[in-house]
Amino acid sequence: MVAGQEGLRVADLLEDGNGSWNEGLLEALFLPFERERIRNIRISPNRPPDEWAWCAEKDGVYTVKSAYGFLATNGDALELGGASDWGRERWLWTRIWNVPVWPRVKLFFLQLCSEALATRANIAARIRGENSFCSLCNSFFESSLHLFRDCRVAQGLWEGLGLDAATAERGGGVRDWIEASWRELGVREHGLFMVGCWALWEHRNKVIFGDNCVNPESVIRRTCDVMDEIEGGGFLRSKTGGTGGRLTRTRVKGWTPPPREYVKINVDAEVKEGEGVGMGLVCRDERGCVLWGASIVQVQSWDPRVAEAAAVLEGVKEAVRFGHTKVILESDCLPVIDALKRKAMGRSIFSLVIADILALCNSFSSIIWSFVSRANNCVARELAHPFPRVASSFVGSESLPPSVNNAVLFDLSVIQ
Ligand SMILES: [Zn+2]
Repeated sequence: MVAGQEGLRVADLLEDGNGSWNEGLLEALFLPFERERIRNIRISPNRPPDEWAWCAEKDGVYTVKSAYGFLATNGDALELGGASDWGRERWLWTRIWNVPVWPRVKLFFLQLCSEALATRANIAARIRGENSFCSLCNSFFESSLHLFRDCRVAQGLWEGLGLDAATAERGGGVRDWIEASWRELGVREHGLFMVGCWALWEHRNKVIFGDNCVNPESVIRRTCDVMDEIEGGGFLRSKTGGTGGRLTRTRVKGWTPPPREYVKINVDAEVKEGEGVGMGLVCRDERGCVLWGASIVQVQSWDPRVAEAAAVLEGVKEAVRFGHTKVILESDCLPVIDALKRKAMGRSIFSLVIADILALCNSFSSIIWSFVSRANNCVARELAHPFPRVASSFVGSESLPPSVNNAVLFDLSVIQ
């Protein structure tokens, strides 16, 4: 496709009548080496009607299997993620290929893995000035990682489907996210994961074209219906019969308040390359009332895991300062919560922060480390990306910035 000439067709490059290329247009639109390649394409004198042809097969006939083979062998050359570890690559590609879902779901998913979807981030990278905000939440850059993992709608989807493994932030790109999640899931859940992504993409497109309002519930329902169709009716039966009752729940689970006598502190960190780290802390009581909170700005860029651990450290410091004795500390970073539960020791920067956190905990009569999905950590998340980047702190809920206030009200609406 030629930038600025999206409507141009190959036929427009041909001279009328005599079956040769229009040299003037080739000069205007293409670089010398591209012109050379185009001139080398033989034009059929019969001028048959236009057809799609698949470049990876000699006969030009497209099959999903051929697309899979093409992506698997040419992924690196095409910079489709550019991963170097072929063993790891193969682990994922083989699994994707073997999941029994519809071919169009599989093809969509291969595009997602290859960062080839027309997300707004991908479009904005090519066309300057395009809106790059998320079509669903309108508040973050619409990268595929945001859309399928971090967006509130995505988080609601994964929770509703019982695929909590898909909600965790693990660093890396979209394929790292898929691979890490899939290693914790069974084969059947791989299918659910693929169909979930596909249904979310379908929903997002409907929202863009005005056919639908944003509604996580409808994505969950659509995913279950498609799974049921694929499994010949077995999916919903098995999910509604056993412990998988979560799928029939109509309301997505929200943030939960601490038991009486405890306070719950939610923390989050956001690393922005070139800008530093934003950390958000919020402390609430058993009614969900905000006791205190803060946005902390750190100009150095840290590794995301270190930043998440540092946010926990700040939360613990504040808890000590306010004299809380029974504390639940909640983060959406699983490695940090794991390390704290295991009291993991080591020599990395990360381990040193963990050690600093643990050293402060003697002053509590009880401290509980809790992992929470990103969707249920939205107040801390809002506080972690203050714009412009200004540190602030507050006591009580009087002077909250509007976006933070909305997140607090959202949490309250779910628990009441
Ligand atoms: Zn979003």
